[in-house]
Amino acid sequence: MDLSLSAEYQALQAEIRAFLATHGHKSPKVGGGRKRPDQKTLDWQKTLLEHGYVGRTIPTEYGGAGKKPDVMEAAVIASEFARANVYAGLTNQGVSMLVPTLLEVGTEEQKRAYVGPTIRGDIIWCQGYSEPGNGSDLANAQTKGELKDGFWVVNGQKIWTSSAHYADMMFLLCRTEPDKPKHEGLSYLLLSMDSPGLDRRPLKTMTGRSEFNEVFFTDVKVPETQILVGRGKGWYVANVTLKHERSMIGDAGKMTARLEQLIKLLSVTEVDGVPLIRQAEFRDRLLRLQGEVIAWKAHNLRLLTEAAQGIESGVKRMIVKYGGTMLGFRLSSLAVDALGSAGRNDAGRKRPSYRAGCRGALPPTPPEGAALWAPAKGSGPWNRLIWLGVGGACSMVATNEQAPPTPNQ
Ligand SMILES: Cc1cc2nc3c(=O)[nH]c(=O)nc-3n(C[C@H](O)[C@H](O)[C@H](O)COP(=O)(O)OP(=O)(O)OC[C@H]3O[C@@H](n4cnc5c(N)ncnc54)[C@H](O)[C@@H]3O)c2cc1C
Repeated sequence: MDLSLSAEYQALQAEIRAFLATHGHKSPKVGGGRKRPDQKTLDWQKTLLEHGYVGRTIPTEYGGAGKKPDVMEAAVIASEFARANVYAGLTNQGVSMLVPTLLEVGTEEQKRAYVGPTIRGDIIWCQGYSEPGNGSDLANAQTKGELKDGFWVVNGQKIWTSSAHYADMMFLLCRTEPDKPKHEGLSYLLLSMDSPGLDRRPLKTMTGRSEFNEVFFTDVKVPETQILVGRGKGWYVANVTLKHERSMIGDAGKMTARLEQLIKLLSVTEVDGVPLIRQAEFRDRLLRLQGEVIAWKAHNLRLLTEAAQGIESGVKRMIVKYGGTMLGFRLSSLAVDALGSAGRNDAGRKRPSYRAGCRGALPPTPPEGAALWAPAKGSGPWNRLIWLGVGGACSMVATNEQAPPTPNQ
């Protein structure tokens, strides 16, 4: 197997390295993503757009670089930014989920209105799918949209809406055809979060942060044209978006960084004077996880090879969300076990509890500041990865979806 890059991609690699050497110092911190981008992040995004390192394949008329899709180019760019530990651009729900949806199914007017401002970070989106009575059973959404005098009048409630507390717009799944079977009764609307009658209420999670919200709609008016594809086509559009959401959630690139953090954590955490990494139970779990991370990387290289050859990976690609989040779960579980009571949900944000709650004789201060609390810089405490498997479809449901059809189906 020859894993070396061809001359064409080596040239791209050299170009990116030169860019990073000149401009890399202007990059914001890697990570974040759960707050509104600040000016530094927006300026950096603009620089990346100008050089074609984000929005690379988006047509120029919508604000991208207009290059032809090339999975190897994308992989080289991602790997060079990761290698230099430089922020590779916004990956929020608008950029990673709505923009590809608009490019796939949006009207010309919708693409022109939203793609450019979204990839620049000027419009922040949130996803209005889940409701108190429907999560995995997404097609059962009950929030109503009634067409009256040129407007969709929306009433109901969404929940677990990430980023809604600072988002400008929402892509919303609502029931517009109550008389039709449930999958045919939904529509997909684009609406302003400042619409009169819309009320956002942040929810505090077990990590102590507020990254989710409840969103209430009371006679919220959405112009009739703010619909994607058409009436009753919401289930189809929602699944176009979910396809992109699930690839984003199971990102393989982060696993190696998390494993490295875990190795450091087990090396500096001692019980009875012995680092956990030297204790059989922890060492055994760590070695198994190391094997899994290597296998996960190999799986992703296989997908990359297939994509480069134009092969449709089917079920092999669908396991990315499930496999990635479950591996994240196991890595995080080992970290939380090592941290003992200091690994409790809110401890990652409180430095004093690092010492007060630790199970063993830790150094007086965390050797690398608070970094060991987070699996990758800025990506939140270990605990967050434990429940990330729920996002974008619970793992059990994702497993069902991935089962190959039987001959009778
Ligand atoms: C980090 C994160 C971010 C999120 N962001 C958003 C967002 O921005 N917008 C949004 O709309 N939603 C968001 N969600 C919500 C998420 O999409 C839902 O939590 C998810 O779809 C599951 O729905 P539920 O919580 O109602 O659980 P339920 O559907 O009630 O599931 C509860 C349990 O029952 C099991 N179960 C359910 N149905 C089946 C079945 N058919 N077969 C086997 N087992 C089953 C599940 O596996 C699970 O264990 C987010 C969630 C997380 C964790």
